[in-house]
Amino acid sequence: MEIKTFGVVGAGQMGGGIAQVAAVSGFDVIMSDIKDEFVQRGLNNISKSLDRFVKKGKMTQEEKDAALGRIKGTTELTDMKDADFVVEAATENEGLKLGIFRDLDGICREGVILSSNTSSISITRIAAATKRPAEVIGMHFMNPVPMMVLVEVIRGLETSDETYETVEALAKKLGKTPVPANDFPGFISNRILMPMINEAVYALFEGVGTPESIDAIMKLGMNHPMGPLTLADLIGLDTCLAIMNVLYEGFGDPKYRPCPLLKKYVDAGFLGRKTGRGFYTYES
Ligand code: NAD
Repeated sequence: MEIKTFGVVGAGQMGGGIAQVAAVSGFDVIMSDIKDEFVQRGLNNISKSLDRFVKKGKMTQEEKDAALGRIKGTTELTDMKDADFVVEAATENEGLKLGIFRDLDGICREGVILSSNTSSISITRIAAATKRPAEVIGMHFMNPVPMMVLVEVIRGLETSDETYETVEALAKKLGKTPVPANDFPGFISNRILMPMINEAVYALFEGVGTPESIDAIMKLGMNHPMGPLTLADLIGLDTCLAIMNVLYEGFGDPKYRPCPLLKKYVDAGFLGRKTGRGFYTYES
């Protein structure tokens, strides 16, 4: 099936980024969220992000307008009936994702690939919520999507070779580099990254260092482009906690237990950049 129309479920930081990259690559995009204000916020964020490309001379105003014009926002998941390919990028919550995939399976045409941008949740389990497990796959973009080239591609137990090859080619069409991973909790990226971030939160919790010193040591000493607490704020502390819980429950190993301070921040609504406060505070 030729892919012309790209469906994106979720208009948050990842869904918006994926919609932006797909539209810039020439696809028509349908982007859904649960409330109109979330759809509008997503579209505004895309517009602002494209403005930065225009300012840097990497895109003309006309190209920006054309890309934005290719994105249709909606609060109706049933609009995904017109999509030739779907990426789900809703909140990192297994029950929520299973429900979305069950619904998408009923809405989307036969043969349409349903992919998830999940950071950690089992693709095999998501696929089992549908009647098309061969056409379900993980397509894990990195944040911020317009800047980061990696797409981790995760096959569920029943994902077909054809589905894998289509997603690999699609990722390249979007200007990304696909890299395969197997379906284990957190896949490769978050199996390694998230315990490091969690350990940084423990270092703060136990008073080993301030956020500034923890981040400076990892930046200057390990040559990381940003410190782990700054990165956690960028990812979203709710997403970090959800991933740690998937690792902890999935492996049944106490080494993955989420730091109590991470839980407390999420309880307080300190989710990082997206709420203006996490380990650091941000201007809106
Ligand atoms: P976010 O909180 O910015 O956005 C999530 C969006 O999903 C919200 O706008 C929310 O309203 C929407 N949503 C919730 N239920 C929905 C539904 N039923 N239908 C449509 N939309 C719904 O979160 P995010 O950072 O964009 O993360 C989205 C997904 O991408 C998660 O699975 C996350 O693990 C994954 N991911 C995140 C990052 C990151 O760095 N933040 C990186 C890679 C992957």
